[in-house]
Order: sequence, then C-alpha cells, then structure tokens
Amino acid sequence: MTTRTNYIVGNWKMNQSLKDIKDFFGVLKSEKFKANCETWISPQSLHLPFCLEMSNNTSFKIGSQNICTDSSGAFTGEVSSKAVKELGCHFTLIGHSERRSIYQETYQDQNKKVYQALEQNLATIFCIGETLEEREQGKTMEILKEQIVSSLKGIEGLNPKNFVFAYEPVWAIGTGKTAGPDQAEEAHKEIRTIISNELGLPGEQFSILYGGSVKPANVQDLMSQENIDGALVGGASLKSNDYRELCAAF
Ligand code: PEP
Repeated sequence: MTTRTNYIVGNWKMNQSLKDIKDFFGVLKSEKFKANCETWISPQSLHLPFCLEMSNNTSFKIGSQNICTDSSGAFTGEVSSKAVKELGCHFTLIGHSERRSIYQETYQDQNKKVYQALEQNLATIFCIGETLEEREQGKTMEILKEQIVSSLKGIEGLNPKNFVFAYEPVWAIGTGKTAGPDQAEEAHKEIRTIISNELGLPGEQFSILYGGSVKPANVQDLMSQENIDGALVGGASLKSNDYRELCAAF
C-alpha cells in the first residue's frame, strides 16, 4: 500500500498584515502546535522574509504564490525561483486559477514555471481545475487531462516527494461552494489515472490536495476520502484557530 504525505497548505493570497502574521505564528508557537500533516503557508512575496523569520523553530514551511517563467532578466515586477529559493523558501504554487484567469497565464507559462521550480529544487503545488461552465458541459475530466498534459509536457524529473497536485474546481474557490466529497474523490481518482497514463508516472504516489472553500466544518468529510491527501485553503487558513482545526482532520 502506498503511503502518501498529507498537507494543509494556506494560500494567504493578497491578505494579512505584519501584525496578523505575527499573531498567527505567535499563537501557534506559544501552544507548541504540532500537526499530523505537513503545514505549509504561502504569503504575499513581500511577506516571505517575515514569515520565514516568524516560523523559525516550527514545522511550518513557507513558499511563494508564484514564480517567473524565466530565471532572471528584464521582467519588472516578477519574482524568480532563484530568489525564492535563496531566501530559504521550500515551495511555490504554480497555476493557481486566479493566475490563469486574472493574469491570463497559459499552459506554456506554467510549463516554464514548473521547469524553473525544478531547476531550483523548489517543491511545487501544481493547481488544476474546471470552471462551472466546463463542469456543466460534462467536460471536467477532459479539462483536467488537458491541463496536466499541456502544462507538464516534456518536463522530466517530477517526483512525488516534491511535486504535489491540487484539484481546485474554479467554481468552488472563494465562493463558499464546496465540491461534495464524492465529487472531489471522483476527480482525484481521475487525476491519478491521468498522471499514470499520460505522464507515465506512478499516479498512486503523488499527493493530491483538494481546494475550494475548505473550512473546519467540511474538512473532515473531504479528507476522509481515499484519494484526497490534504487541502489547499484560502480564506480559512488566515486565522490560527481555523488553521489548527483544519489540521485536526489528520
Ligand atoms: C485557494 O485560494 O486556493 C482557495 C481554495 O481559496 P478558498 O479556500 O478561499 O476557496
């Protein structure tokens, strides 16, 4: 039987003040918080150094929400994988749906970003998921396959130890609507099959996180599914009390 790593990953998006960050880690540090899963946090890029400092001597790992497609050069406003790595970060998110929809990130961009992350040995959380329209047209599995195949084409060296998939149905992100545990489980199973059949990699070894309005009230039902190995959480990851409750699902 394969044992996969479980994760609660907080995507803080463009939220949190320095005081909020201090409070978050302060509370969890004071109670010597320990979880039965990996605990990762992804703040705004400017807050990365402060989060690294605040999370010192804890089991939290810190990562960026994005990296540039290229390693260095004239890319005003971008953040390189090298800078993220040099700072001491552990991971990066790639392909979050907000990057795809607001900033028009393409499969080719994501492909280059994955390559950059691998070059720097940065762990990656690679996000995929269908829109409501695609789901209603019965295209969910087709879209997941297209996203995986197109963004990861020609990439060598994907390793279950530092490459994690996140299934995030776009219609469930920040909307309060969650995929039901059965719906999510069905998609996760399919993602494993796609990883095996299309990428020729051991699909059963990769952790696959669910994301989309996960909160303390629904985390247990989702995480109890066989193929769901953790959660990528926006809103409910901002407060230490909620974060602690999310981790209690493992
Ligand atoms: C996310 O940002 O990836 C996310 C799932 O957000 P939320 O939990 O707020 O829906």
